[in-house]
Parts: sequence; structure tokens; C-alpha cells
Amino acid sequence: SLTPSLFPELIQALIDDIAAHAEEVTELDQAIGDGDHVFNLQRGLQALHEHASEIAPLDWVAAWQKIGMTVMAAVGGASGSLYATLFIALAKSGRDKVIDISGFSDAFLQAVEAVKLRGKAEVGEKTMLDVLVPVALALRDEAAAGKSLAEILDRLCQVAADGVEATRDMLATKGRASFLGERSKGHIDAGAKTAQLMITAIAAVLK
Ligand code: ADP
Ligand code: MG
Ligand code: MG
Repeated sequence: SLTPSLFPELIQALIDDIAAHAEEVTELDQAIGDGDHVFNLQRGLQALHEHASEIAPLDWVAAWQKIGMTVMAAVGGASGSLYATLFIALAKSGRDKVIDISGFSDAFLQAVEAVKLRGKAEVGEKTMLDVLVPVALALRDEAAAGKSLAEILDRLCQVAADGVEATRDMLATKGRASFLGERSKGHIDAGAKTAQLMITAIAAVLK
């Protein structure tokens, strides 16, 4: 079943997938950011890897709390505090729920709302939210429709890929890319790309 016993395998999959796309993502963050996004993510993933055996025996709520605190301590940069917020909010909103797909989809939607508040950002501002928000909404809809896990995961991968592509023509109005104004257009957002890569890598493990 889906428990944090999967966590070491999930983290290894994320480490491998981010490494495989490191150059591509760094080019994206160099084009409209400061080029450190992969480094920031890798620091966080490495810290989680070091804590993986402590996290594996926990329940999901305790695991998400520990993941959030670990990322918060390990990672600088906008993405570090936003992912830390995502997991700490997931722990908070998951506390009173049964963590099946439907309970997770509710908690995840609330956690993404917390990221929006933390970064004072909305969909359409060329950030990771352009992946996280549509994925959270699709997860809720697919779970409510009673789809199978495999169907849900396929749909989320598709929605994430569409979310990344949508950032290309957006004007960045949050984060470092916003300093470029109109020149931010024509480039995919690095944080949206890594959100998609991580969702796709997690889906591959869960399938
Ligand atoms: P930094 O911008 O501090 O160098 P990173 O390079 O690690 O941090 O992360 C940059 C990514 O963070 C961006 O590509 C974008 O997706 C995301 N991001 C930046 N600011 C925000 C925000 N206010 N809300 C949501 N996501 C944001
Ligand atoms: Mg950066
Ligand atoms: Mg930076």
C-alpha cells in the first residue's frame, strides 16, 4: 500500500530524475533567473535522502511535517521556502483526514493554497504554481470521479506537462524572472519544469 515506506525509493527517483535534467533546467533558470534552481533542489533532495530512513516508518502526516522541516532547514532560495510550506501545510491539512486518494487530494489542494499565500502568487504568473494548481485541481476531480490510481497518475502527468508549456508565453510577475518584465516571455519557468519532473517521477514509482 501507499505508505511512507516508499519514501526512500521516491527520493532516489527524484534525485535521479533531477540529475538527468539538470543541464536543461539550469539553462532555464539562467535565462530568466539566477541559475541556482537545480542546486537548491538538489540540496533539499540530498537532505531528504539523508533523513529517508527516519521518514520511512512514520505515518504520512508525520512524514510530511518532517519533510517540510528538513527542506526548510536545508534550502535557501524561493523554491526551498515554498516547498517547505507545501509539506508543512500538507501535514496540517492532512491531520484530520483519512489519507486515501480522496483525503490526500483535499489536503494537497489546501497545501497548494498555502503556497499561493506564502508567495503571494496566483496561477498565470509563470511559477511552479502553474503546474501545482492545475495538478491539485485535476487530482481532486479525478479522485471525485472515482478513477483508478493509474488513470489518475496519467492524467496528472498530462496536466503537469501542459502547465509547464503554458508558462512559456506568460509574463513573469513574481520571483526573479519578474525583474525582466516582457523579456521573461518566450522561456519556460524553471520551477514549473522541476515541479513537472518531480510529479512525473513520483507517478512512475507509484504506478
Ligand atoms: P531563487 O529564485 O530564490 O533563486 P530558485 O531558483 O530555487 O529560487 O526557484 C525559482 C523558482 O521558484 C521559480 O522558477 C518559480 O517557479 C518559483 N517561484 C519564485 N517566486 C515564487 C512565488 N512568489 N510563488 C511561487 N513560486 C515562485
Ligand atoms: Mg534561482
Ligand atoms: Mg537564488
